[in-house]
Amino acid sequence: MGQISGQTIAFHHYDTVIVGSGAAGLNCAVHLYEFMSYKGVKNPQERIVIVTAGLGLGASRMSGSDKQTYYKIGTSPDVPDSAEEFARTLTAAGCCHGDLAFAEAVGSLREFYHLVQVGVPFPTDSMGSFIGYKTDNDPGEAGSDPSRLRLSAHAEGLRRAFERATSAGPKTSKFMTECLQRQLERYGVEIYDNQEVCHLLTVGSAPLLAYARKQGGKRIAGVVTIDKKVLNESNYAINVFLGANIVFAAGGPGELYKASVYPKGQVGIHGLAFKAGLIGENLTESQFGLASIKFRWNVSGTYMQAIPRIFSTDATGKNEREFLTNFFPSMGKLATNIFLKGYQWPFDPQRIENFQSSLIDILVFNETQKGRHVFLDFSHNPTGNNSMEDFDINALEPEAYEYLKKAGALQETPIERLFAMNPLAIEIYKENGIDLYSEPLEIALCAQHNNGGFAVDKWWQSNIPRTFIIGEMAATHGVRRPGGAALNAGQVGGLRAAEYIVNFYDYSSEGKPDYSDKEAEITQQLSQFVSRLESYKRSAGLVPEEVIEEIQSRMTTSAAHIRELNDAGKALQEAVGLYEDIQKNGFKLQGRNGIIRAIQAEHLSLTSVAYLKAIVELLKLSSGSRGSHLVLSEDEGLTIDDWRLPIENRKSQIENHKSKITNRKSQIAVDRGQIHPDIINKATGKALRFKPENKELRDSVLQIEYDEATPDLFRCRTIQVRPMPADRKAFELAWQDYREGKIYMSYRI
Ligand SMILES: Cc1cc2nc3c(=O)[nH]c(=O)nc-3n(C[C@H](O)[C@H](O)[C@H](O)COP(=O)(O)OP(=O)(O)OC[C@H]3O[C@@H](n4cnc5c(N)ncnc54)[C@H](O)[C@@H]3O)c2cc1C
Repeated sequence: MGQISGQTIAFHHYDTVIVGSGAAGLNCAVHLYEFMSYKGVKNPQERIVIVTAGLGLGASRMSGSDKQTYYKIGTSPDVPDSAEEFARTLTAAGCCHGDLAFAEAVGSLREFYHLVQVGVPFPTDSMGSFIGYKTDNDPGEAGSDPSRLRLSAHAEGLRRAFERATSAGPKTSKFMTECLQRQLERYGVEIYDNQEVCHLLTVGSAPLLAYARKQGGKRIAGVVTIDKKVLNESNYAINVFLGANIVFAAGGPGELYKASVYPKGQVGIHGLAFKAGLIGENLTESQFGLASIKFRWNVSGTYMQAIPRIFSTDATGKNEREFLTNFFPSMGKLATNIFLKGYQWPFDPQRIENFQSSLIDILVFNETQKGRHVFLDFSHNPTGNNSMEDFDINALEPEAYEYLKKAGALQETPIERLFAMNPLAIEIYKENGIDLYSEPLEIALCAQHNNGGFAVDKWWQSNIPRTFIIGEMAATHGVRRPGGAALNAGQVGGLRAAEYIVNFYDYSSEGKPDYSDKEAEITQQLSQFVSRLESYKRSAGLVPEEVIEEIQSRMTTSAAHIRELNDAGKALQEAVGLYEDIQKNGFKLQGRNGIIRAIQAEHLSLTSVAYLKAIVELLKLSSGSRGSHLVLSEDEGLTIDDWRLPIENRKSQIENHKSKITNRKSQIAVDRGQIHPDIINKATGKALRFKPENKELRDSVLQIEYDEATPDLFRCRTIQVRPMPADRKAFELAWQDYREGKIYMSYRI
């Protein structure tokens, strides 16, 4: 305990402090305990702590889909897979470091079986084989473009059969957290719950040369939290957790967006991490897709494979419309694309043209932009109109029909088909007060995951020595990732960080960090922190909830799945203005938790500046549409006004439309793609048109770093992606490296 600026502050000392109790953080703690035990460290449980805003919060604990996917190396009994092949899939769409992808591949089965051992109920057959299926952006995915995936000839031959995806049901990641938590309880590792991380304590100064990183330079010495349960008007309930090693596993910044399927309250700590000097990568690569909004849940997989009717109403729930029918040439095509949304779940600009499944995402978005509400109706099949026949399961394209036939799901109605394929998918909504048998399910196009985050090396160590980043906070994915790869990356990252911490860094005999020579720095920061909290008590100032609302609206409008340089530039200036306003005017607090919301609003505001700055810089590089966002073009390109097909003479219109596309392909090297005349570019007032991907950028990664001296508060640079390691040593040499600890000689980011 210590008294600083009138506040009683509790100090806690550990070897390793982990922030976040999602699947990544809990798993890292389990591994730390296990590695320490193997090394003979006494009472490892006393050296590790998890600090979390909520054990019951976060994406792992609260999110899922019809069968939430875990992506690992294939375990099919008759189809071989390899780490190289797996890593090639992870890096296929570019902007992904080869060493990270390779480590995720190599560690994949070890971590999967680790989860099996702690009790996650991944299904097996009677011989014990773990059963798999294909997922989005998976080479086994039907319709995936092999040239994009750069598979070897061997893999190409097998591309339908890796079966890398598996699932323990809608709540896979929840089960993971529950099982890992139980393991930690058995080990006796302490979890401090209800701790909102509000400040990161830094000591020393940057920059640091890679070879000297172990000795000194800038360090993150600990985290400052407010205990949300104890906090009151006079007592800020401040805890300081000091650690020799810090592991950040605080998840993605879900609260950045208005349209979001992240669980409510998933703020993350990106703004704090940037301020502490951590470098971001690939922030531009978020993933967006269709999700239910009353209860936040992804409507991927069997929800769409059951082929529900999709309709919209006005704001009052009246004026029902089958808004998709005018955009597809036939019910067979429309229904097949609804089906395909199941495993082509994320919005993908490369799947809009020629009546592909992401046309549905954009049309849903367009409808909601008009103030209308969009629903999935599982009690009825899709309905036609004057020119489009009603649903007929026999008219589905072979891929969809064969899948449903094999799955025993050729029943009359979508709810019957869903029940046949996945009754748990119905159950999860029932648990949350929604009866899919009788109630249409409201959906929207939502932010779901950030492939980017903070830069890490092949041991998941950040640019600041002894600070590690794992889970969704780590920038380990590229432009595109197979569904389920996030959970695999989170587990492998925790394993790698734990192994490095235990085997590379020294232990003090008490298992506590020694910051005695940094006391003055720490005290000064804490007293500044308390003063900041005091300043929030002003009667004038900004209202935290309104600030968060402003950030979310701006991010969903200008930094989500549709982007344009001028608009993003304007949004960036507004975001910087808001952050400066907060610094100048502070907050006006409401209620007991007002101070927490104020802190969140402040660092979320800096996070939004970082994301917008990265987006602007990437757009300036003419990145084009990629991953899960499309980039608007103002130039003349191919005009596809006829995405809405005239009702009469539909077939010949399609042929005209197709030949128009073919004839003009040569003219559209740079710009192409208008989605629909109703979808307007705000800047030009004209129909929205989008740019193709600039594939030259696939070998680079955009980094971003906080710099308060620059007008936009951040500076960016691009770096080359690190290659996949190709050296394979003979056993004796590799063994020697291992014995001598040479495998832990890391290098800079
Ligand atoms: C709807 C949905 C479906 C998904 N489906 C899949 C899927 O099928 N397959 C897949 O691989 N991935 C999926 N994902 C992504 C995946 O669930 C997440 O990326 C993953 O669970 C993140 O785990 P994590 O441990 O990094 O973070 P989280 O599980 O988000 O945990 C973050 C932790 O940090 C804590 N925390 C946050 N902010 C603070 C703070 N300020 N102070 C203190 N603590 C804090 C939280 O309380 C929480 O304990 C899905 C995501 C969503 C939203």
